Amino acid sequence: PPAIRIDNLVKEYASPGPGEPPKLALKGVSFDVPQGGIFGLLGPNGAGKSTLINILAGLVTKTEGSAEIWGFDIGENPRNAKRSIGIVPQEIVFDPFFTPFEVLENQGGFYGIPKSERRSEELLRAVHLWDKRDAYARTLSGGMKRRLLIAKAMVHSPPILVLDEPTAGVDVELRRQLWELVNELNAEGVTVVLTTHYLEEAEQLCDRIAIINHGELIAEKPTRELVGMA
Ligand code: ADP
Ligand code: ADP
Repeated sequence: PPAIRIDNLVKEYASPGPGEPPKLALKGVSFDVPQGGIFGLLGPNGAGKSTLINILAGLVTKTEGSAEIWGFDIGENPRNAKRSIGIVPQEIVFDPFFTPFEVLENQGGFYGIPKSERRSEELLRAVHLWDKRDAYARTLSGGMKRRLLIAKAMVHSPPILVLDEPTAGVDVELRRQLWELVNELNAEGVTVVLTTHYLEEAEQLCDRIAIINHGELIAEKPTRELVGMA
């Protein structure tokens, strides 16, 4: 199957108050994310990117249409769908008094992975945080926290990693580091999907790009064809 298949996905948020219309955040979006690549979901603020990611994460319910993750329909088979994807949220949320090692061990426990089968060391090494394994999360730099979030999303060994605006508000050096890490994970076989509002990020990092605006798909193509169009 494709890594992700989105078919005619519609999301209508309820009216925020009396006299205000409901908000159509996704107006029937369809596309496939093939296995193995780095797929960019590009669009300005308010385009519907987070809504789409949150539907895949099981945090927001769709209004119409369907989404499949690794062949599992998120409505019919939510458990298998959820197990096939790791989500790196935009906001950084850790208990400040847990260490990176504990964050990963706790997440492994949450997924019911026996201690002997956990990959906390391997993951901390992969995100270059092994030497910080026993530091309190609150003492880590912003970049280290973002890398820890990526490791946390990989604890259950999902074949797909989804990052929501991974480099929003980060400096040039950290952006370069995160790009490198995404490439490393992809080289190990992980299908990566990321949202961004930076055209340059999508061009540099992604082999396919979907452009969405006002809840509609504008284009979905290999990066080299899109760049040729511009
Ligand atoms: P993006 O991630 O591309 O910035 P979002 O998916 O966050 O876009 O938002 C798409 C549209 O849906 C925006 O107009 C936004 O204001 C609206 N929206 C997002 N979340 C909610 C919500 N919980 N309730 C109502 N409207 C929402
Ligand atoms: P459930 O719906 O099974 O109770 P939650 O959505 O409440 O799970 O998530 C509980 C914990 O697991 C949180 O730390 C959350 O960030 C994490 N989590 C859940 N699903 C994923 C996922 N697909 N990728 C990464 N972390 C996840």
